[in-house]
Amino acid sequence: MTVDTDVIIIGAGPAGLSAAKRLSEYGIEYTLISREDKPGAYKACGGYIPARALEEFGLEQIPSAHDVKSIRMKFPGLEMKRVDFENRVGVNVSREVLGVTLLNQIETSSEEIWLNTECGETEATKDKCTVRYTKGNETGLLSSHLIIDASGVNPVTIRFTPVRSRPMNSQIGYAVQYQMKTKYPLEIVNDFYYGSEFSPRGYAWSFPRKYETVLGTGGIVEIVRTSKKRTISYLDELVENKKPTSSELQNARAELVNREAALMPLAGIVKPSYGNRIMLAGDAACHCSPITGEGIYYSMLGGHSAADVAADCIQKKDFSDNRLSRYERLWTSSFGSDLKWGLWLQKRFLESGSSSLGTTFLSSERTTRIIAEMLAGIRPVRSAILAAAPRYLVSKLRKA
Ligand SMILES: Cc1cc2nc3c(=O)[nH]c(=O)nc-3n(C[C@H](O)[C@H](O)[C@H](O)COP(=O)(O)OP(=O)(O)OC[C@H]3O[C@@H](n4cnc5c(N)ncnc54)[C@H](O)[C@@H]3O)c2cc1C
Repeated sequence: MTVDTDVIIIGAGPAGLSAAKRLSEYGIEYTLISREDKPGAYKACGGYIPARALEEFGLEQIPSAHDVKSIRMKFPGLEMKRVDFENRVGVNVSREVLGVTLLNQIETSSEEIWLNTECGETEATKDKCTVRYTKGNETGLLSSHLIIDASGVNPVTIRFTPVRSRPMNSQIGYAVQYQMKTKYPLEIVNDFYYGSEFSPRGYAWSFPRKYETVLGTGGIVEIVRTSKKRTISYLDELVENKKPTSSELQNARAELVNREAALMPLAGIVKPSYGNRIMLAGDAACHCSPITGEGIYYSMLGGHSAADVAADCIQKKDFSDNRLSRYERLWTSSFGSDLKWGLWLQKRFLESGSSSLGTTFLSSERTTRIIAEMLAGIRPVRSAILAAAPRYLVSKLRKA
């Protein structure tokens, strides 16, 4: 069967761009289609990337990235705690800068990456798959052996050729975020605020980038929808009168430049993530931490694994579900534990409220540091739970 290209990638986020990079390393033909002109430029995101992602994906030198060496955490009934690290645990970066950096990493010709192009209907048959696209006034149909759908939390293919059903409102997070610019520099310290003062049973954050900062808050859609207080009101209160963030913003003469809102998948391991010649990667596959909402690193790992499996399928000329199933094994063994235990922790937070968990977990300096390491993405979630939880719980968890 003749096709236009071997693989169609939908989406130029971290998942799609890392899949494209990997496929070009294999020398596999692909076409990446994405709707925006500048990858990442319009994506609502805190832009925190953990150090392990920088090392594994050769991103040590992202321009205008700010090293994060300190984390502060506020739990109800407790003073704000600060943890300082010797080395950077990650960076805060704008998504536009990340998008350019990821794009520049790909050895590509402009023929392979179609920006400003919208994907519409997709179809998968026993011989090939097709994607209908629109670029300006032009529409067309592109065919391939496989699709890597990396189009984010509401994946394109789910409307036409669903690999699985949509996650429920109890599995999706909703967040609002402010981007602010400042006249004077802010200290680079990432803040996490827990408790009903700050969010509809989720958490609020502030991730500064010297002369700019992003602050957000949110919670699970199901809870947000029934909450009497608007989510944006929590954010206004954080900016206006919750110290230390409010006073630091005032001292730095912060000005609001953009308001945004977005969804994020907080569902844990969701299967299947492949089928009918399609692999879902990144947010499309719920590759996002249910406890922190961190998804850049997991999306890049997901996109990378999808490309590995696509390359294998093309070499063997086998596009069966059986061969694609390796994809799910790869990503679950790579970061499935963080998704599984992140969901476990999220449920405990929702059941018992962050106040009781906060006082249990943050009862000593040692546990405070462990939680900070987890939030910074330098300690796996399961390891943090085992290290910070009381003994009786540890014995139960080890068996799980
Ligand atoms: C408010 C907020 C804050 C966050 N903060 C952080 C953080 O600090 N650190 C972190 O690690 N993660 C964070 N996340 C999560 C992170 O942003 C996502 O997990 C990550 O962007 C997922 O990458 P992706 O490539 O799967 O999808 P996306 O980055 O969403 O990219 C999807 C791509 O698909 C394209 N697309 C979609 N539909 C179509 C279509 N029909 N046709 C063509 N193209 C299409 C889009 O234009 C986009 O290029 C945050 C999320 C939110 C909502």
